[in-house]
Amino acid sequence: MSIGEQCQACGSTNLDVFFKVQKVPVHSCLMVKSREEALAFPRGDLAIGFCNECGFMQNTAFDPSVHNYSPDYEETQGFSPRFRDFQTELCATQDAKYDLSGKTVLELGCGKGEFLVQLCEISGASGIGIDPSYRPERTTSAVAERIEFIVDFYSEKFSHLTADYVCCRHTLEHIQPVKEFVQMVRNTLEGRPDTIVFFEIPDGERVLVDQAFEDIYYEHCTYFTKGSLARLFRSCGFEILDLYKGFDDQYLMIECKPGDPTQGKRFPEEDDLEQTKGQVAEFRSKVEEKFKRFRADIQRIVDAGEKVVLWGSGSKAVSYLTTLGITTEVEYVVDINPHKWGKFVAGTGHEIVSPEFLKEYKPENVLVMNAIYVPEITQSLLDMGLSPKIDAV
Ligand SMILES: [Zn+2]
Repeated sequence: MSIGEQCQACGSTNLDVFFKVQKVPVHSCLMVKSREEALAFPRGDLAIGFCNECGFMQNTAFDPSVHNYSPDYEETQGFSPRFRDFQTELCATQDAKYDLSGKTVLELGCGKGEFLVQLCEISGASGIGIDPSYRPERTTSAVAERIEFIVDFYSEKFSHLTADYVCCRHTLEHIQPVKEFVQMVRNTLEGRPDTIVFFEIPDGERVLVDQAFEDIYYEHCTYFTKGSLARLFRSCGFEILDLYKGFDDQYLMIECKPGDPTQGKRFPEEDDLEQTKGQVAEFRSKVEEKFKRFRADIQRIVDAGEKVVLWGSGSKAVSYLTTLGITTEVEYVVDINPHKWGKFVAGTGHEIVSPEFLKEYKPENVLVMNAIYVPEITQSLLDMGLSPKIDAV
């Protein structure tokens, strides 16, 4: 039996594959320097399976050996004011809840370190951040003196690192053996019952309910709802302190501590298994219709002799373009992250350009990859004297 045939959260083999896409690029945030390299990018298949026993979803066709989270990995959303506001508020809330002043924060998968730096700035905590794609030259804050960055994947070899608060944001969805990972984190906390553990991931329920296929891509090999996430943490020996959504309900957060999983608060939304089964069925029946609608929208623009750019070159754009098979209908993808300008979208070969480029290109249409950014993108376009039609996926 291959690893993909078994639920990586509960061990069951009672999985139903409900969404398949073949030959999608295995990375969507890795910087690609030429169109040729982008088009020749390694590919893998999506075959998303739903576990009937625990509600967890995983790409049953996933092969972890293809991934390379090097310093060329460009995942940051920190160039967006909307995202920065969300992160600032999150840091303030976490500090208010857990009083992190003078404590040590350990972040597993800290990316470029932006959250950890801000959390230490706001709270007065010291930090340890671990990530293979961390780049020291990106950290300019004075608070960096109180933070140790380790350029590596988190693993058992770092189990000696102790902290009062352990956080892991937008990392678990990149990990196939989720139970093994959460159990490893739990094991490092033996004898430290007061350690707070905070995980944040994309919310899988929204993906199902909105048929948000653009949020299903190879890098994300696992998907959770509130219930499946809570079940996994309880099964690893955590007591759950809070379970909620944020960032316009796009993200799912869990706060817990080592302890008796049968104790403490129980959240009514944990009992979502039957509801999730219904949502999976609805996704399966409606997603094709959504593909058709999206393709027709693009075709209408092309037929009218107009130009359209995508705004946002991250994973959603890669997934949108590859899943719908859109190629020359779209010429450019815009991004506000200057590290991406002049690079190419993995798998599709679209060139990534700056917002400024649009002054010259003058597209009649802008398709925003995440509706949450529409207000700030509309303003940027107005500031440049542009007023294209703006739509969001
Ligand atoms: Zn399961």
